Amino acid sequence: MNDLIIIGSGPAGLTASIYASCFHLKHLVIGGTLGGQLQLAPDILNYPGFESISGKELTQKMFDQAVKRGGEIVTGSVTKITDNRPQITNNETMKQWNNDFYEVETQDGKKYQAKAIILATGTERRKLNVPGEVEYTGRGVHYCATCEKFDYDGKICAVIGGANSAVQAAVELSQGANRVYIIYRGTALRGDPIWLEQVEKNEKIEVLYNSVVTEIVGDGEKVTGVKLQSVTASKNFAEVGKDFSAHLPNSASLTGLEAVGVLEKLASPQNSLLLDKVFIEIGGVPGTALVIPLGVKMDQGGYIEVNERLATNIPGIFAAGDLVSYGLSIEQISSAVGLGARAASSAFAYLKQEKAPILWGESRIKR
Ligand SMILES: Cc1cc2nc3c(=O)[nH]c(=O)nc-3n(C[C@H](O)[C@H](O)[C@H](O)COP(=O)(O)OP(=O)(O)OC[C@H]3O[C@@H](n4cnc5c(N)ncnc54)[C@H](O)[C@@H]3O)c2cc1C
Repeated sequence: MNDLIIIGSGPAGLTASIYASCFHLKHLVIGGTLGGQLQLAPDILNYPGFESISGKELTQKMFDQAVKRGGEIVTGSVTKITDNRPQITNNETMKQWNNDFYEVETQDGKKYQAKAIILATGTERRKLNVPGEVEYTGRGVHYCATCEKFDYDGKICAVIGGANSAVQAAVELSQGANRVYIIYRGTALRGDPIWLEQVEKNEKIEVLYNSVVTEIVGDGEKVTGVKLQSVTASKNFAEVGKDFSAHLPNSASLTGLEAVGVLEKLASPQNSLLLDKVFIEIGGVPGTALVIPLGVKMDQGGYIEVNERLATNIPGIFAAGDLVSYGLSIEQISSAVGLGARAASSAFAYLKQEKAPILWGESRIKR
């Protein structure tokens, strides 16, 4: 039986494997797409040690290192995890741990057993699902502002979304871009106050409220703009102006009618906006459905809740990478790698507790 099964072969899973090998844990990595989202990154400029590297090349390096250290990597999609641990009563001792196991089943019906699991199934960036999105992905449509850092200088950009990630992305982009629009379907941004202040005082950023992108347009090579529609298009525009003039840039200097005019221009049905780049920041969908039946606790967004050792509320199940609850992960390779290392170290401590309770016991784990 394996000590550990790592589900996911992205940066978090592959790093967890490298560390599991260092700890001499008999383990298996089961992953759908080798490299995960990393495969999609065209040019990584912010991963230490590499001035510039493609996601595919970095994936290959991580994979080679994991295999060289002794990791076994299986391609497959996990469809079910069964908790076969006996119910431990208060009188029973931890000796029973050696008989406990989780069983992991893959799409092709194969079954694997382990005493502990690290879930590193990442997230999938939420898509807009509008025409032009797929066609121009990587050619002006992006899902990660931090990743494109040096490619938007002097450009006109739009960030789609209204929560923290969108607001932060807009502030970040404004460091180099000439103009940044935040296109948001709601009536008020939902970011942290500290970021909202930054948006308010930043003259390069303009927020288009109550607007949705209906199409991303381009010249066949790259993005040239978007088509916008007002989500209140059926409303009388005078009303809309009254409701939202407060959110317009320099609204204090606009008369009611002027505000209406600006709104009509910005958010009338099928209005167009000329742009060089579109950043879709409408959140991610964490790959956590697998552990719902086990009762693993999640936050409201479906991200896994973990303690400082990356342990979930279910003994023996750890989580690492983009899918851990907001605050621990910044959804970047460097944080996924760090969390993967930590999860493997915590799994090692968990597995060795029985044999070395003093060294690895609860009170000694924290350094
Ligand atoms: C286009 C793009 C560009 C990016 N550029 C950068 C950049 O320049 N710099 C940067 O730091 N970050 C960048 N990122 C973010 C970075 O790629 C992620 O933060 C990182 O990959 C997260 O690692 P992870 O291991 O947590 O998850 P992921 O990379 O999402 O990997 C998840 C793994 O789990 C597997 N999986 C999911 N479900 C199952 C299942 N049921 N069974 C088995 N396996 C499963 C997947 O197949 C995959 O192997 C970019 C992301 C994108 C999308």
